[in-house]
Amino acid sequence: MGKDYLIAADLEGIHGIVGEPYKSLYPDVADYAKAIENAVKEINVAVKALFDAGAGRVAVWDNHGQGKNIDFSAIDARAVRVENPPMKRYERLSFAKNFAFAGIILLGYHSKEGSFNGVLAHTYSSAAIQYYKIDGKTMGEAEIDAYIAGELGIPVLFAASDDVCIGQIKDGIPGIRTVVTKIGKGRNAAEFIAEEKVLEEIYEGVQAAVREPNAPVRLQYPCGIEVNYTRPERAEEVLRKVRGYGQDARYGETTHIVCSVLRGAQDLEAFI
Ligand SMILES: [Zn+2]
Repeated sequence: MGKDYLIAADLEGIHGIVGEPYKSLYPDVADYAKAIENAVKEINVAVKALFDAGAGRVAVWDNHGQGKNIDFSAIDARAVRVENPPMKRYERLSFAKNFAFAGIILLGYHSKEGSFNGVLAHTYSSAAIQYYKIDGKTMGEAEIDAYIAGELGIPVLFAASDDVCIGQIKDGIPGIRTVVTKIGKGRNAAEFIAEEKVLEEIYEGVQAAVREPNAPVRLQYPCGIEVNYTRPERAEEVLRKVRGYGQDARYGETTHIVCSVLRGAQDLEAFI
């Protein structure tokens, strides 16, 4: 029996799209439809690469916004759709307990908020969050997901995105295989790379990653976290929420910043 793999798909780092100024990538933006169309192509080529490499099960997780973007009827029928059901306390990879994932493939992830030339750069929400600093280092969604998966013993094996996001991911996840889908020239500007080249490289890269997997990454708990929110109202909400979970939390230099000490991945997920 082959191993289980997860494809985690966001949209901003997908090839051929840059979005629009002042907007997130949602249906009111012309590039949204194109992002989904191109994401389906990237996902399908990754599914094929995994099965060709001997995978037993491949799960696909649409994690952009509310996770209702991808048309799963267009996804390779051998793949299984996974999502997080509504839950009292957020658990980023709640579905992982139904599998024995040997690795995760990241598609469409993006650089962290404020990244120079990062296409559609943000950290969870451009409107709400300025930065996540863990153990003194600012981090993006890909690294945070890698740390949550790492606590479950699962490595992030591969990522495809713009060159800025890939630089950050390589920094945070040693040994990961990567493919650049576009060269960032601004928040809403990029030099595109030909689709055939991107898809071919994803196929090759995913196969190589499965053949020679890198190790899971782990944070050394306890460690500090500092999150800078755009609005103090949001910071206050988060402060109350994490205190409600029994976590230590206090304001930082301003009432936009919440500081805490993480005891484990669950404490980290309270901030997502
Ligand atoms: Zn997204």
